[in-house]
Parts: sequence; structure tokens; C-alpha cells
Amino acid sequence: MTMESIYREIGICSQVLSYGERVEASLKKRFEGLDETAEYNQLKVLLAMQKNRVSMEHLSGTTGYGYNDAGRDTLEAVYASVFHTQTALVRPQITCGTHALGIALSGNLRPGDELLSISGKPYDTLEEVIGIRPSRGSLAEYGVTYRQVDLLEDGSFDFDGIREAITPKTRMVAIQRSKGYQTRPTLSVEQIGEAIAFVKSIRPDLICMVDNCYGEFVERTEPSDVGADMTVGSLIKNPGGGLAPIGGYIAGTEECIENAACRLTTPGLGKEVGASLGVNKSFYQGLFLAPSVVNGALKGAIFAANIFESLGFPVVPNGTEPRYDIIQAVTLGSPEGVIAFCKGIQAAAPVDSYVTPEPWAMPGYDSDVIMAAGAFVQGSSIELSADGPIKPPYAVYFQGGLTWHHAKAGILMALQKLFEAGLVRLPG
Ligand SMILES: *Cc1c(COP(=O)(O)O)cnc(C)c1O
Repeated sequence: MTMESIYREIGICSQVLSYGERVEASLKKRFEGLDETAEYNQLKVLLAMQKNRVSMEHLSGTTGYGYNDAGRDTLEAVYASVFHTQTALVRPQITCGTHALGIALSGNLRPGDELLSISGKPYDTLEEVIGIRPSRGSLAEYGVTYRQVDLLEDGSFDFDGIREAITPKTRMVAIQRSKGYQTRPTLSVEQIGEAIAFVKSIRPDLICMVDNCYGEFVERTEPSDVGADMTVGSLIKNPGGGLAPIGGYIAGTEECIENAACRLTTPGLGKEVGASLGVNKSFYQGLFLAPSVVNGALKGAIFAANIFESLGFPVVPNGTEPRYDIIQAVTLGSPEGVIAFCKGIQAAAPVDSYVTPEPWAMPGYDSDVIMAAGAFVQGSSIELSADGPIKPPYAVYFQGGLTWHHAKAGILMALQKLFEAGLVRLPG
């Protein structure tokens, strides 16, 4: 079978395929740069595993209390080596990214302390952790206050605003690397480093925490390389490499990690307990694959940006700007466009490809939302996935793809659905 005929069999017509091939050809140089980053990060992870003498016995797990779980403890040492930190907490008991951020915050803040976000409004789910929206058990209920300094119009840090906002009450500064589902640009590790250096020049004792979700392995360095005391993320995003079935991590200083561990488990127990059950092997193997998986997801995001930008749709980031996370926003301008895009992503999935996603009311959203995901791990957004609220400007947020070729197929399928619905015109 020829390439064209296997694409046709999966549902992608030759017009869509040849448009995609042309765009891909124009990205050759760009992709070579991404491959170099992936190569560097692959060696970084490999070195970390070798240096910490990962062995067969580490791949199996413990049950019960999990005392002396060598696989778990060595994995944490591997993460510390990758992130160049004193130590790390990497556990299946951390249920998601929000939970990892939650224990990093609540473990390190005490009544009377103030948390200062210097990258504007934090990710939606953190509003309830902090108590920006009143919530049961929030930091606000424990007497931790909150303040934020918004980013400037151009997406850079407001250094004057930060200087003014730091008071004797301030205990921790939070920075979110990825834009998440906002329209601001994602922050580079270099920018984050400048902000941390500025904060520490005012008060060296302030704890700097970075929400690193969606950012791992996109660059050669991580926030922990530029002074972050805690770098925090989810294992069902980048560092899990698509294999971790659950989990979160915090890499950082002994002091901060011990505080977070005492919140995750309990004071007095800290890191000593927490059986790894059967997940060690997928944590190790997922981390090992992560640089290459992130590479595929990044190629997909850039490919999508260039396809849809060239067809006249606004895209963030645009087709040429540098990337600091794996998220791509495409504004399709109509409900039909959002629905067709998501149907395409779903139709290209390895799991549940035959189901049709429909817009639906979701808790926490003020409009119907459509979501497309056919993932091996439920809710995993390092796997090819897309979602969009059915409201102006009718944008979809797209991310992931365990391999570049799958990301490519998904994007071509999204284009196919738009083409079939008469929402795009293709040359030829
Ligand atoms: C995904 C994400 C989170 C929360 O992670 P969950 O695993 O969904 O709880 C926090 N911050 C950012 C920037 C994210 O992208």
C-alpha cells in the first residue's frame, strides 16, 4: 500500500494530505532544532539513571507502608539529578498536578504567611487551593493570605510591581511557566530565572515555586536550573512520558521537599512511607521516553500552528515564535469549527476513535465545552487531546501526541473534518 492510500484508508483525502506534506516540508529546519533539544534531554535523563545506578530491583514495588522502597527512593534521586536539585518527591499518592502544587503550597506556608503570585492569575484549579474562590480547606481558611502581580501587557514580569508587593509577610513567590488556558505568552526558563534572581535580590529567604506543568523537556534547562526552590508538575503530562498512570512530582531543596512530604503523608512520617505498588516501572520508563514524547508533541503543536495559520485562523503561539510549552490554541471562529476540529482529533485516537464528542455543560465552566481524547490514561494530556468552550472567539486548545506521526495524523484528521464541513478551502 502507498502512503497516500493508507492515509485514505484512515479517512484523510489526498488534498488534505498534500497540504500537510507541504507545510511539513517547510518545517524541516525547525524540527531539526527540536530534535537537538530532545537529544540533549535524552542524555540528561539517561545520565541521571546511570548515575543513580538504577537496577532491575528498582522496577518492582512495595505494598503496605512502603518502608525502604528502594525503587521509589532511587526514582526520586533520578528526578533530583534530572532537575539538578537536592532532592525530589515523586509519588503515585500525588493524584494530579493540582495536588502536587497544593502540597508544595500548604506544606511550606504557615498561618500569617502571604503567598505572592508574580505571573498573574494562577491556573483555575489553584483558585480553590489558595482560596481566591472560597473553598473548603483552602489556604485562606488557614490564615494564609494571597496577593498577585499581573504580567505586563507584553507578557513580561512587572518588576516594579513585584518590588512593591513583597512585604515582611511574604513567604513564597509562585510563578506559572505555561500559559495554561490563558492568552498570555508562556514564560521561558530564562525569563523565570531573571524573575527569581530579582525576587532573591530583594529577599533571599523567599521560597520561589514554579508550576512547571506542560513545560518539562521543552527546553534544555528547567526552572530548578535557574534558582527555583520547588519545581512542580504532573506525571500525566510531560514527565510521565505517556506511561505513568498517575502521579505528580516536586523537585527542590531538602527543606521544601520535606515540608511538602509531611503534608502529603503526615508530620513525623514524611517521605518514609508510601508504597509504590506497581507503578515504579512505568514511572522510570515514562521519564526515559519523556524527552522524545515531548519532542513529538512539540512538532505537532508547531505543525498545527503552521497549518491553521496559513489557512487564515489566528493561532497562539504563532507558526514561527519559540516554544516554551506544548499547548497550541487555534481560533476557529465558529461553534461548527470547534466541533469539527475536536471530532477530527477524536477520530484519530487509538482508543475510542469511533465515539463522537459533543459539547456539554461541565462543572466550573460558564459555557458548553467539547473535549476530544482517546487516551490510554484517562485525562492524560500528553496524549493527543483537544478541548474548546463553545463561546466566542471559538478557540480550541490542543496538546500532546505520544509520537509525532500520531500528532500529525490527528491534525490532518482535524483539517479533514473542517474541509468536509466546508469550513476551509484548500488549494488544488
Ligand atoms: C494541568 C495544569 C495544572 C493542574 O494539573 P492537573 O493534573 O490537571 O491537576 C496546573 N497548572 C498548569 C499550568 C497546568 O497546565
